[in-house]
Amino acid sequence: MANQWIAGVDLGGTTTKIAFITMDGDIIHKWEIPTDNSNEGQNITTNIAKAINEKMNELGESKDNLLGIGMGAPGPVDYETGIILNVVNLGWQDNYPLKESIEAAASLPAAVENDANCAALGEMWQGAGNGAKNLVCVTLGTGVGGGVIANGSIVQGKNGAAGEIGHITVIPDGGAPCNCGKTGCLETVASATGIVRLANEELLKGEAKGELAERLAANGKITSKDVFESAENGDALANKILKEVTFHLGFVLASIANTLNPDKIVLGGGVSKAGSILLDAVNENFAKFAFSAVRDSTKLALATLGNDAGVLGAAWLIKNKLNR
Ligand SMILES: [Zn+2]
Repeated sequence: MANQWIAGVDLGGTTTKIAFITMDGDIIHKWEIPTDNSNEGQNITTNIAKAINEKMNELGESKDNLLGIGMGAPGPVDYETGIILNVVNLGWQDNYPLKESIEAAASLPAAVENDANCAALGEMWQGAGNGAKNLVCVTLGTGVGGGVIANGSIVQGKNGAAGEIGHITVIPDGGAPCNCGKTGCLETVASATGIVRLANEELLKGEAKGELAERLAANGKITSKDVFESAENGDALANKILKEVTFHLGFVLASIANTLNPDKIVLGGGVSKAGSILLDAVNENFAKFAFSAVRDSTKLALATLGNDAGVLGAAWLIKNKLNR
């Protein structure tokens, strides 16, 4: 039988990741193209369709072997209609018909979902979820994204905006401004940006000493990686930041687990690369705030797919739709 592939697309503000994936979830070929958000984003889907066609030609594959396209996009998506409701950095007007647009450009069936939800589906299918049907995925990157899977399906909510874990308020009074317009969201303390902000506030308080202060002096800035590495080396200030960040994360995740009792809560995104120093401290707070039956059954784990989670989850969407 000829190869039967699906395409997974992870649309980002500056680059778009594309992969050809088998129905069993093996990535055959993956690459990236720049996202062209000029001209109100009118070139985005035609560029993706063109890139897919060119790659099939390059690989000597007939276009008939490609069955459909799954796509993750950075904003709330109405899954049934494939309309992306609002998105800040792609140039599109509100309520852009993304599914219709990519289907027309590529002449293939498509399925569209929010990118954090796609990452959650990817981890469920091929990653840390290990087939778990009840899964919460938290992406700790520049922002904080979330995806909730119950009984194998993404929880969409009324407006496609369910699972916005990053915008749960953790500092009710006097919190830092968030990109969403509120203040004190989890994203303002647990994203890479938030961690750096907290560290900078401490470092600027006066004569900070220790490894983190030295890294700041040497490089003119610090990253969240600096905070975790310095904490691991015993730096007091870095450990104070770690304690604050993981307190809020553990508290929020315990509250989510008390509501949903998922099999697993998976931590992904760049910040999760800190590994056990992050996971152990979050676990400690999680155990403190989770209801006992939840604490004993819901497990916290680090994501295993890295940047591939989005394209795999997107592919899973179209595979499921084609199988129906
Ligand atoms: Zn927010």
